[in-house]
Parts: sequence; C-alpha cells; structure tokens
Amino acid sequence: MAMKNYDVVVCGAGIAGIAAAHALSEAGVKRIALVEPGPVLGLTSDKSTECYRNWWPGPGDTMVAYMNRSIELMTAHAQRSGNRFLMNQRGYVFATARPEVVEQFERQALEAESLGAGRLRHVRSSADYIPARPEGLGSALDGADLLLDKAVIREHFGYLNADTVAVLHARRCGSLSAQQLGMYLLEEARARGVELVVAEFVGAETAGGRVSAVQLRAGEREFTVGTSALVLASGPYLKATAGKLGVSLPVVVEKHIKISMADPLGAVPRSAPLIIWSDPIDLPWTAEEREALAHDDDTRRLLAQFPAGVHGRPVGAGDQVLMYWTYDCPQDDHPTFPLTWDPHLPEITLRGMSVLVPGLAAYFDPMPKPYVDGGYYTKTPENRPLIGPLPVPGAYVCSAFSGFGIMASCAGGELLARHVTGGPLPGYAAALSPKRYEDAAYRKLLETWDASGQL
Ligand SMILES: Cc1cc2nc3c(=O)[nH]c(=O)nc-3n(C[C@H](O)[C@H](O)[C@H](O)COP(=O)(O)OP(=O)(O)OC[C@H]3O[C@@H](n4cnc5c(N)ncnc54)[C@H](O)[C@@H]3O)c2cc1C
Repeated sequence: MAMKNYDVVVCGAGIAGIAAAHALSEAGVKRIALVEPGPVLGLTSDKSTECYRNWWPGPGDTMVAYMNRSIELMTAHAQRSGNRFLMNQRGYVFATARPEVVEQFERQALEAESLGAGRLRHVRSSADYIPARPEGLGSALDGADLLLDKAVIREHFGYLNADTVAVLHARRCGSLSAQQLGMYLLEEARARGVELVVAEFVGAETAGGRVSAVQLRAGEREFTVGTSALVLASGPYLKATAGKLGVSLPVVVEKHIKISMADPLGAVPRSAPLIIWSDPIDLPWTAEEREALAHDDDTRRLLAQFPAGVHGRPVGAGDQVLMYWTYDCPQDDHPTFPLTWDPHLPEITLRGMSVLVPGLAAYFDPMPKPYVDGGYYTKTPENRPLIGPLPVPGAYVCSAFSGFGIMASCAGGELLARHVTGGPLPGYAAALSPKRYEDAAYRKLLETWDASGQL
C-alpha cells in the first residue's frame, strides 16, 4: 500500500495540538494529520480549572503580550460561535487580611500595567467600581481595581473573610469551558480537512537531516506516513517524544490535584469570580482536633502553616465549587498514571478555602464527598511554553503549557503555524522558542529568575 503523505503531522490532540492544527489549517496548510492514541482532550486538557488571565509577571512583556493575543483570539472565537464555550470576564480576585500586602498588590498591579495588562485603578468608593458581569463578554475593562475600603469590599465581596483589608480585582481574566473550546476548534479544523488519526507517534525518519516521515503505532500495527513537518504537542509526554528525535528538552512534569464539591448553602455565590487568598494559612481546627492531630506522625503536618494561594470558583450550572491549592506539587521527569494523592488533600483544601470563604466551614463535619482529579503541568525552568522549531529541521514543538495551556492555546497555535509556514512572527516569538536556551545571557538570567507567574 502506498505511504500516505501529509504536509504536517501534529502529535497529540490535547488543547495544544488541536489549536495548532486549527491554526495551521486556517493558515492554508492543506494535509494535516492530528495523531492521538487516546480520547481527544482527555489527558490534561479536561483537568484544568478553565481560567484565563492577562495578569503575568516579567521579566519583559512576553507573557502579557502573548496572553493578550490569546485572549483576543479566544474572544473572537466566542463572538463568532455565539459564545459556545461560555467565556466570561469575571476577573481574578486576590484578597488579603495583611495590611503589609497592600503595597505588594500595588507593586504587582503597577508592574502588570507597565507590561501592558492595563491600568491600576484605586477604588475609593463604590461609584469608582464596575462589578463584573456574571456571564458573557463585552467588557472592555482591563488592568486592575484595588479596593481598600472595608465597606466597599463588604458590599461587593461580602462572602470573603471579614478581616479582608484589600482586594485586587484583575479584570482581563475569567473562565470558560475548556472542553467546549477544544471541541469547537477541532470541529472547525476537521471541517477544513484536518484528519484525526488514532495512533501513537513512535519515531521519525530523516532524509538529508530533515524530517521526512513519521512512524506511528495503532494497537499492534505500525505504519509510516510521509511528512516534512512534525509538531510535538504531547503534553506530559513531551520529554519522551522529543527523546525519540534525539532532542533533550528542559522540562519536568509537576503533579497538580484539585477538588470540587457541592455547595448547597451557597457559601460561594454562583456569580463569583476566581477568588484567591494571598496569605499563608493555619488551618482552622478545634482545640480537641489539634490535640488529636498532634499525636499522630501522619497528621502532625496538618498543624503546620500552609503557603498563600488557595483559590476556587463556582463551576457549572449546578452548585459545585472548585477548589485548588498548589501547596504540594512533586516534580518528576515523566508522568505516572493513574494519579495518586494525599488522602488528606480534600480536607486540607476545603479548610484552606474556608479561611477565604468562612461560609465553607459549614461543610467541615462531615465533609461532603468531593470529586478529586488533576493532572501534570509540563514545565520549563522559567514556566514559559516551548513554541517553535527544534534542532532537527522540520520538527517543531508546541507544548510545555504548564498551568496555562487552555488560555495560551489559541496564540500558541497561531505562533506555531507562523513558524511552520514562514509567516511574520510576533514580538514574543523569540522568547518562547526553544532556541532561547542557546543564548548564554538567557541561561544566566535563568539562575536568578524568580517570577513563575504560577498561582
Ligand atoms: C489541575 C490543573 C489546573 C489547570 N488550570 C488551568 C487553568 O485554569 N487555565 C489554563 O489555561 N490551564 C490550566 N491548566 C493547564 C492546562 O490544562 C494544560 O496546560 C493543557 O491542558 C495542556 O494541554 P496539552 O495539549 O499540552 O497537553 P494534554 O492535554 O496532556 O494533551 C497531550 C496529548 O498528547 C497525546 N500524546 C502523548 N504522547 C503521544 C504520542 N507519542 N503520540 C501521539 N499522541 C501523544 C496525549 O495522549 C494527550 O492527549 C491546568 C492543569 C491542571 C492539571
């Protein structure tokens, strides 16, 4: 049988591979194979908290410019599709009970402003503040509102800890349905001829040093397809798939687990944005509970202070609330499935969230059965993605999307397609290309890089 030929073979049908195939087809590439052995969007891309933000630290404006572009593209898709993937712009709300954090909020907001995320506004009265619309888009607001007046905070965020002294509301942020976005992009791509091939990428052939063919396996059957362009979008298997090309990429996988549970009492309003507590937390326990926990080697750690950053939001049309706390995220070279987690994680997360939203304390005893799941962040040392050509001519990468792959996918796919088709590259292209590690000055910068932008 004659070998089938494609212009581009994309390996992996998570959100990154689908967005890449979509953008390539939009750019006019005709014969595209999207190769995936498992369910589409089924490995990491359906485990996300489904939030987006243009709120990113430096150095430089790379991440802000990149996310601004991705949000622009997602917004255009939302408008074109009648908002099929339920994108809203409720924002991200950071809250603190520590007066000394106010200065840090201001500094972050001014940095974000200088990088292009939008202006910082000091809210002095309710008249200065525009609450977010619960659903849909249509707000031109960006930047952030800083609320310091306790009465204004209580008026708009009465469900938060009563000791909250400051709220920083970042506005070009919100949430969406990642599955629906992915399916929308996949349907459009398939309508333009992208072919979904149920198979695993197992290796590549080269001719004259360039990619000339890709070896695939479907069950017991191995076969080869001809192509001059291969895109790795293999999520947590990036290191392994790049290894098949003889390429070593500086990525690790980091395990992240989240919970969701019913909130029939409405402790978190259904219209709430993503809410984040910016203070370290001593979990709330009664005196008797403390004593019992202190006696057991396994539970004594529950009395230690936990880091800032617990966050959550309402999800779906029912009464579920999603909660997530990146307090313990082990790293490894390769993922291990099925995922395992600390049996105390759900209770730790709920108790942490109850510091931010005291109404959640009603669910301590007995705690309703939570739904627990998660996945792996595939991360570079500086927590920026890898998009661009690999050292083997004809091979590209569109991956290492860490904890931001849903929000970053549209601009990631666009950038990848520009690399493959030789289109004009945006200003952030070089900073996201794997080639950046060839620059000695960049490698030096990595030694002191301290802003990951991870929540
Ligand atoms: C708990 C959690 C919360 C998150 N929250 C957010 C959030 O709020 N906002 C956000 O933007 N992002 C978030 N993320 C991150 C986001 O989910 C990921 O960055 C994104 O899903 C990665 O997409 P991907 O396509 O790169 O990887 P994946 O979705 O893992 O897809 C990779 C695909 O490649 C396939 N594959 C692997 N090896 C091969 C092979 N040899 N051949 C063929 N195919 C192969 C796999 O089967 C898989 O389907 C979160 C992630 C987690 C885990």
